[in-house]
Amino acid sequence: MASFNHNVFRKTILIFFLIVIFLAGMLVVNHFNARATEKGLPDKQSDQESNLSPIKPSIGFTDDINQERKLMAEYRRMVFKWSFDEAEAAKKAEEAKKAEEKAKKAAEEAKKTAAQHEKKTETPAEPVKKQETKPAAEPAKKENQTAHKPPAPASSKNPKRTVYLTFDDGPEKFSGDIISLLDHYGAKATFFMLEGNMKKYPNAVKLMVSDGQSVGLHGVSHDKKKFYASAQSVVGEMDEDRITLNKIAGIDTNLIRTPYGSYPGMTPEYKQAVLEKGYRMWDWNIDSMDWYYKDQRYVDSVIAQLAKKSNEKGPIVIILHERKETLLYLPKLLDYLSSQNYEMKPLNSAMKPVQFKGK
Ligand SMILES: [Zn+2]
Repeated sequence: MASFNHNVFRKTILIFFLIVIFLAGMLVVNHFNARATEKGLPDKQSDQESNLSPIKPSIGFTDDINQERKLMAEYRRMVFKWSFDEAEAAKKAEEAKKAEEKAKKAAEEAKKTAAQHEKKTETPAEPVKKQETKPAAEPAKKENQTAHKPPAPASSKNPKRTVYLTFDDGPEKFSGDIISLLDHYGAKATFFMLEGNMKKYPNAVKLMVSDGQSVGLHGVSHDKKKFYASAQSVVGEMDEDRITLNKIAGIDTNLIRTPYGSYPGMTPEYKQAVLEKGYRMWDWNIDSMDWYYKDQRYVDSVIAQLAKKSNEKGPIVIILHERKETLLYLPKLLDYLSSQNYEMKPLNSAMKPVQFKGK
């Protein structure tokens, strides 16, 4: 009997505990629900309101918000790394300055002693001089953004060369970022712009002009069939683009780039028509393929092509596009170019344009 009672007692206790645990669970759930409502998670009323005025996230570049977030996160990382590099470079520059001063002193002393020790002179001064130029040149590559000076030659090994960066299809809402990056490297580029985008982002156009960037025309439709329909359509689109540019930025240009380049769309007749209108038609000789790679491979591609062009004469013209991914890896390209002693200059009307040879 005793054991029977004991068993019943144990079962009752067990059931009691289960009920307590269940109740405690309910309490916890209720508590979190209440907190969630406090934090503004939708109750029925606000659901109705949000149906009346749905709040959509603002998406600029792509409809895929996850992709957009990823891009922006990566961009911020780049910018962070960039400013970090900058601090590092400033440190190096200071060290180099000290080294330079030291070298100068050493050189002066060497001269003095050399003068004292008769006229077997020039040999001691020379090795010191070599030291003097080397450390000064390298870290100067990255200077303060405010300084606005073109970066000093990175290495005396590479002769000074020039490249012409061109950006098509803009302006875009991030044109300002491209421009400030160019400024940082003391670089200038040429922007071949579409009429509709200029109307959309007139301030970007004004910024380019006031910053001393070169501006050119890229037409209106960017549609092969429409643009290359006739000599009139070609000239007409460029004229329209030109007028809009003038209205927005008060500047005139005769630099043009036809959509997808002049080959094969531009017939001899069309070429004659733009020439008669005074337009200077520019193609390119380095295709970054940035629109295709959409990542840093476009930078590698440019670098590889540059290597092949080292002995060629005539201007080196690189085609890029005003795309977010292009901007993302632009620091890498600009780093490389300035480290290799390339000057980045804007195209102008006096130059003989690079044009595809009708293959
Ligand atoms: Zn284009």
